[in-house]
This record gives sequence, C-alpha cells and structure tokens, in this order.
Amino acid sequence: MKYIFVTGGVVSSLGKGLTAAALGALLELRGLRIKLQKFDPYLNVDPGTMNPFQHGEVYVLGDGAETDLDLGHYERFTNCKLTRFNNLTSGQIYESVIRKERQGKYLGKTVQVIPHVTDEIKERLRIAGDPDTDVVITEIGGTTGDIEGLPFLEAMRQFALEIGRENVAFIHITLIPYLSSAGELKTKPSQQSVAKLREIGIQPDVLVCRTEHPIDQEIRSKLSLYCNVPVRSVIEEMDVEHSIYELPLLLHAEKLDSIIVKKLQLDAPENSMDPWKSVVRCLKFPENKVTIGVVGKYIELQDAYKSVYESLTHGGIANDCGVIIKRIDAEKIEREEDPASVLGHLNGILVPGGFGGRGTEGKILATQFARENGIPFFGLCLGMQIAVIEFARNVLKLSKANSTEIDPQTPDPVIDLMEEQKGIADKGASMRLGSQPCNIVKGTNSRQAYGVSQVFERHRHRFEFNNHYQESFEKNGLKVSGVNPDRNLVEIVEVVDHPWFVAVQFHPEFQSKPNLAHPLFAHFVKASIEFKR
Ligand code: GLN
Repeated sequence: MKYIFVTGGVVSSLGKGLTAAALGALLELRGLRIKLQKFDPYLNVDPGTMNPFQHGEVYVLGDGAETDLDLGHYERFTNCKLTRFNNLTSGQIYESVIRKERQGKYLGKTVQVIPHVTDEIKERLRIAGDPDTDVVITEIGGTTGDIEGLPFLEAMRQFALEIGRENVAFIHITLIPYLSSAGELKTKPSQQSVAKLREIGIQPDVLVCRTEHPIDQEIRSKLSLYCNVPVRSVIEEMDVEHSIYELPLLLHAEKLDSIIVKKLQLDAPENSMDPWKSVVRCLKFPENKVTIGVVGKYIELQDAYKSVYESLTHGGIANDCGVIIKRIDAEKIEREEDPASVLGHLNGILVPGGFGGRGTEGKILATQFARENGIPFFGLCLGMQIAVIEFARNVLKLSKANSTEIDPQTPDPVIDLMEEQKGIADKGASMRLGSQPCNIVKGTNSRQAYGVSQVFERHRHRFEFNNHYQESFEKNGLKVSGVNPDRNLVEIVEVVDHPWFVAVQFHPEFQSKPNLAHPLFAHFVKASIEFKR
C-alpha cells in the first residue's frame, strides 16, 4: 500500500481538502483504489459539538460519524467509502491514550507524545486502507508550524522511515502571495514553511502553489531551489474560474497525477478525463438557469451549508441547468413587511438543517410563501420540521404549534423529542445519526424521484415528527410519503395540492455527487425549471 500525505503551509483555508479530493479523483481515473482520510489537530473528539461559525458544516457519514466537511469533498470527488476511522482528531488520540494509561496498558512506562501519541497516529495510518486499497491519501488539518500539529508530522516522518520512502509521497500546499505594490509574487513564506517541515525531517516531494496569478518559470525555479523540490514537481494551483469541479482538470494539466504515480512507482496509466470535462462543460454552458433561495441562519458563512450548495449544483448538472443560489437570512424575512420583496424572484425555496430557535419565524414565512404560491420547496431536517410547523399553524389552525426544541411549552408539539433522547445528557455523538432505511409511498413526488420503494439516508437530529398529529395532517393535505419501517418514524412529508413540496427529516445532501446527483435534488431543480417556465 502506498501513502500520500498532504500538508498545508503559510495560511489555513488553502483548499487542502479539495486538492486531496481532486488528487483522489485523478488516481481513481487511473484505476487505482484509494482511501482518503483527514487528521485534525484540535482536541474536540469530533466536530459535532462545534458551532458552524467555528467549523462550518458537520459532515455525517453512513455509519453515523460526525466529521470534518473535507470528508464531504472526498465523497463527492471519489467513490471511496468512508467510515469513522477516516477522520482522526487529537481529541480521539488523547482519549484513547489516556484510557489505555488508566487500564495499565503501558506497563509502568512514562506516557509521552513520542512514542505513545505518535504510535497511536501510526496505528490509524495502518488501519486506514482495507487489503485492496492501493493508495491512502491523508490530509493533515491546520498549518505547518502549529504546535498542535507537530505530533502528526512527527508520526508521518516515523511512518515513512518504517515503510520505506519509496512508498510515501509528501505534498505540501502553500500560498504564493501577490504584492500589488511591488507587482510581484512572493516565494519567501513558502520557503519558510518548507523549512519548518524539513526541520522535523520531512522533505516534500511536491509543492502545490495556491496563487491568484500564474507562476512563471523563474518563480518555479526559485521555489525548486529554495525548497529542494524538483522544478517539475512545483505545481501551480490557481483559483478555479467557475467551479471546484475544474480542479481535477487543472491539476492534471500540471501533471500532478503523473508525478505522484511515478514517485510511488505505481503501474497506473493515464486515462481519459472526459467524465470531469463533461461536468465542467455543463457548469460553464448550461442550457437553463434557475434561481433557488436557501433560507437559513448561517447564511454569511461559505461553509455552513456546504453540502447543500454542492447538491443544488449537482441537481443543476442533472438537468443541464445552472443553479444560481441566493443565500437568504431568515431573520431578514422577519423584518420585511411582505416576504415577496425577498422571495418573489425565486424559482425554488430550500430550508436547510439547523439547531435552536433563531430565524424560525422567517423560515416559517418562507415556507408558507412557497406553499401558497406553488413555488417548489425542499425542506431538509430542521427544514422539514419547519414545514410541519407551518402547515399546523396555517392549515390546521393550531396557532401555537411548534417544535419542543424551540418552544418547550407549546400546546401542540407537532415536532417532539424522541422518547429515547429524553434521558441523554451528553451532547457529543448522541443524536439519531447515520444511515437508516426509509420506505417511500407510491404515487408521491418522492417515489417519482427515487424510483424505488426503499432508500437509505443519513440522519443527524434529536427531534421527530409527532405521530399523534399524523391523521389530522393527512386529512388536510400534508401527506406522509416516507416512513422508517423499523420504528414507524415519519421521514418525508409532501403537500398534496402543490407541484413539488417535499420535506425530509434526513440529509440527502450527504449523498450527492457532481455526476450522480441525489434524486431529490435533481427533481427539485427540475420542478424549479418547470415553475420558471
Ligand atoms: N434541530 C433539529 C433536531 O435536532 C434539526 C437538526 C438538523 O437540522 N440537523 O431535530
């Protein structure tokens, strides 16, 4: 098995995750079986307890692991199957080391970062791939030089020594800033960041240069000289023009995959890039365009609804349609006299997941506006709960209906805490999580989209549709179209008298790919195109 380590230098947010994912895609195209994983140096056991402002989206895997959003990129760009073992945090490592210490497993030794913490990290590298994995790509979160990242780098150095340098490739992603006053691209920060790596004993094999301007031969030679990297292994990675899905093409043009295959002595000939070309062509020159509003409370953050935005784009690709995403702050709708002033121009409205009460009334207004005006509507998780509350208030005339998460005293708890959740005190990893079955009712928009009678979808929530109200909802036109067969939990509701109003308790956005859009996203965009017409 071969190993690729991806580190980042100079600043964070260089798109290491995307680069790792795009490299994974390129290697898969060459017929290699890959596995991607992320090491995060923070002390949280997982990002599940972090605020979206801190961390962006929490990405949920099929096995219920709450993970870093980069795992979303990994799953969207490649076909590799990820589990909770593919996202390791310092929190998990220390938790495990301390547990072993208490159990006396270190046989009286002093427990130290080297070797005990680094051993733990190397163990995770060893179990990362299954027997038929060819290449494991591991991304190290944070920036080279961070104190908390040091044990990871040290573990990588030891690991490379143990399994042989010919089996390991180190890729360092760095920033080449442009100083407009000097009219120059600057290499010094990259030199210093590589020097930091070399201090630990790691010599990068490839330097990926994030830059807003092309790097010429002179810059490449300089970087090569000072960073001790062959000049052809200095890779330019410009900001993409239209979409992140251009990245595999861009890196392929710079020969990143050839360099890696050669370095790792892999027999994996080049293949056609057509699958990625056709995705990009569709994004650049779509036949149609629709405008879809996403009404949430973390709207100013790029990353908070990452998978939702990506899935909308995928739904667009499936329909040869560009999706213009309007991010709408739910609280802004609350302040407007007429919701039409904010929502009137939209061809579709989506309410994503979320926690807590802020913005609830704005989301309810947006949902009502979509329902009453026949605008295609898609509710995800909290968005489904909002749709249920809206229908209860405005159609069933239960004016104080609510979720007990938002109003614990509501006389009509149409969304309520699951019985099994009532005694739970821990906040981490304690929700209803991961892949669960859902039976789809015949003759509904959901069934039309899925085309099958049972699906598996990923969950992350504590509250549920209250079955006590089901009959009353169904009599008045809110149909239950998806049910968990094992526990009789309502998973999907649809407004009957509406062209496309579908709201789901799960997170379909975690199972969508650019060339294989999630069926509900594809059909939501399709309905939006029809509505626009
Ligand atoms: N806050 C809601 C719940 O816990 C919805 C969660 C979500 O949207 N992911 O049930």
